[in-house]
Amino acid sequence: MHADIGRILISREQIDRRVGELAGEIGRLYADSEKGLFIVCVLSGAIIFVSDLIRQLPMKMRVGLLAVSSYPGKTTQAQPAHVLQSFDLDVTGLDVLVIDDILDTGGTLRVVMDRLAAMRPASLRSCVLLRKSGKARGGLEADLVGFDIEDVFVVGYGLDYDGLYRNLPVIAVLKPELYG
Ligand code: 5GP
Ligand code: MG
Repeated sequence: MHADIGRILISREQIDRRVGELAGEIGRLYADSEKGLFIVCVLSGAIIFVSDLIRQLPMKMRVGLLAVSSYPGKTTQAQPAHVLQSFDLDVTGLDVLVIDDILDTGGTLRVVMDRLAAMRPASLRSCVLLRKSGKARGGLEADLVGFDIEDVFVVGYGLDYDGLYRNLPVIAVLKPELYG
């Protein structure tokens, strides 16, 4: 698997440090939450990020899962997003923080935020590990961002290509010949 990496964009140490900083920011943001924090993990790309992040959060919280259609198979082009399935998503009256792996065109986050807003949470924010620069997002932005990256298709730390590479501990670009 490591032989497939063309270039490492973000190292393990950089990820660890930034996840710790984000946990600190989230801890401060929700320190006085009376309703209780509810983390929504957008499947499947955010699983590693969410699992690392929430273990550094000191407050009581709940986690729900939301599956959104993603890039099918060997494509690196964005497709229109739609919600496929949700699990334990009873967020009415709670402080909701949506966590996704990467913000590209914003289509995915828009669909997720609209779905959750309709459930009338007490508050609704978003956090993404990565944000691609130079993209028009129609006014949609994440509240918290881990790293800004160039506009390349990345894998690792939860992000896949054709279902593979989610278990890479770094954020990387594959060798060009592997993108079919
Ligand atoms: P958006 O809807 O903002 O255009 O794209 C966000 C979704 O597309 C992410 O949740 C992720 O699933 C997928 N995505 C966007 N860019 C990349 C990328 O560089 N690598 C991978 N693996 N997935 C991406
Ligand atoms: Mg995704």
